[in-house]
Amino acid sequence: MFERVKLPYEYADLEPHIDKLTVETHYEKHHKTYTDNFNEAIKKAPEFAEKPAEIILMNLDKAPEAARKALRNNGGGFYNHNLYFESMTPGGKKPSAKFEEIVKRDFGDFDSMLKKLHAAATADLFGSGWAWLIAKNGKLSIVISPNQDLPKEIDTPRQLLLPVDMWEHAFYLKYKNLKKDYVDGYFKVVNWAMVEARLNNEHKTV
Ligand code: MN
Repeated sequence: MFERVKLPYEYADLEPHIDKLTVETHYEKHHKTYTDNFNEAIKKAPEFAEKPAEIILMNLDKAPEAARKALRNNGGGFYNHNLYFESMTPGGKKPSAKFEEIVKRDFGDFDSMLKKLHAAATADLFGSGWAWLIAKNGKLSIVISPNQDLPKEIDTPRQLLLPVDMWEHAFYLKYKNLKKDYVDGYFKVVNWAMVEARLNNEHKTV
């Protein structure tokens, strides 16, 4: 039985960047529904019973046809949202000097990485989906994925460092059509210590 990650803050704690009603609705309605539906879908795929979510999500081609779509959409929704909600902290947390060096090595400087992630989320991605900072073979890069899919570039979900949820439910109550402002706001609450811990395999969200 998969369970949502516990919110490491109160609904209102990410204000004014991510508003209370959005956090509450997103976590209690959307994330809960993905998680409940994922648990239901697994009942139709007995070979996945007791398997970790990352194994299920990387082996969807082995799922029974009747359960595959539900596992992909809801399993992805479950996994991505656990990462998302644990990526934020009230007021944000700055990157360490060590992590900044790694970003600098792969993007030139920290701001270039943020700009690239922002552009991926607001310009490269069309429709609902996610933008990501990932680490593959130690190298950081920016990718996008549609719907609740995990990015096709990864070999394991452990390579996912930072998600940007670009479904309208993540921002529409406060930001309406202003996607760029939402991403700016999201960047102000990112917990970069968490992102670094994921890179170093020191924190397991799911
Ligand atoms: Mn979402």
